[in-house]
Amino acid sequence: VPVTSKIQATLIPGDGIGPEITKAVTAVLDHMGQPFEWDVQQAGMAGIDAEGVPLPQNTIDSIRRTNLALKGPLTTPVGGGFTSINLQLRQEFELFANVRPTKTIKTDGRYDNVDMVIFRENLEGYYIADEGYIEHNGDPEGKVYSTGYNTKEEARRITRAAFDYAVANGRKKVSIVHKANILKLLSGMFLEEAREIAKEYEGKVAWDERIVDACAMQMVMYPDDFDVIVTTNLFGDILSDLAAGLVGGLGLAPGANIGKDAAIFEAVHGSAPDIAGQQKANPCAFLMAAGLMLEHVGKTDDAERLRKAVIGTVQAKDRVTPDLGGTGNTMSIAEAIMDRL
Ligand code: NAD
Repeated sequence: VPVTSKIQATLIPGDGIGPEITKAVTAVLDHMGQPFEWDVQQAGMAGIDAEGVPLPQNTIDSIRRTNLALKGPLTTPVGGGFTSINLQLRQEFELFANVRPTKTIKTDGRYDNVDMVIFRENLEGYYIADEGYIEHNGDPEGKVYSTGYNTKEEARRITRAAFDYAVANGRKKVSIVHKANILKLLSGMFLEEAREIAKEYEGKVAWDERIVDACAMQMVMYPDDFDVIVTTNLFGDILSDLAAGLVGGLGLAPGANIGKDAAIFEAVHGSAPDIAGQQKANPCAFLMAAGLMLEHVGKTDDAERLRKAVIGTVQAKDRVTPDLGGTGNTMSIAEAIMDRL
């Protein structure tokens, strides 16, 4: 048996455009010497087709073994009886941090100097919408309830992750985003715990605090003023899409879900059923997710090479997909990226 220095990782192609963009990503990584040894598993509708359930045990076991996954988009049917697989994965592997870097890529964008990283708490807050205890009908008059909760432990863990990242990556500032003026307990506690953690980083990295609504406006008006942001689940969900909008949309936005023992990387966009199977899907966000994964396992040079090749291709509009204003397809843009590598 040949000795391999490749890194074991789980690959979940996913639904809709997932298999197409996965093909493009594996082709590009193959071209780079393929740092990963993939264990291909299914989830989502593809999981149902393959094994009868949206999150097969084989997929869970694989991630338990590799602790590392690249995951394509998964279709969540609208309506009852089907909890989002993404939420299930977060709970299963305690993926407490959703990390979304956003950087200007296109030169014709509205902003030229956006470079921010959002740390979104991924397990709590107003987001855990399982029907029953957390979300329920209150009375027959049409009142419904949704319960949000934050814990001190998670508030501290996500804040520490953001500050550690800031220090490790030479970032200048961490902004703590909250709504403590209204949600005095839920958001107030988060703010207090985050302030406590911030004090531990005195002299290492600056920090400020912002109320989420004002923060949204400031991100649009003065995006340069943001560096690392740390916030609760729902606010992070909204602000990170807003951030993606500042640099031209979801087509290039990757995300990492980081836990104590596992990390799952993905494109931020969904399964795009409207263009699935047409070779129109832009694989760049998924490629950038693979880049984050390379960075995560310490292959920073490879990560930078890949990033540069993707950015160069997008800026040159070389064989790019329709969403980037081109007439190319999923594989032609992948080929343009390979040429740059
Ligand atoms: P979507 O991101 O799939 O699509 C929104 C629009 O963006 C569509 O017009 C689509 O064609 C376009 N688009 C998305 N990705 C693209 C790409 N790579 N290249 C070119 N165009 C792209 O969002 P949606 O339509 O709201 O959701 C579709 C499905 O995806 C739903 O079932 C949803 O639950 C799921 N979803 C999954 C994830 C995930 O797995 N992380 C994230 C978001 C949505």
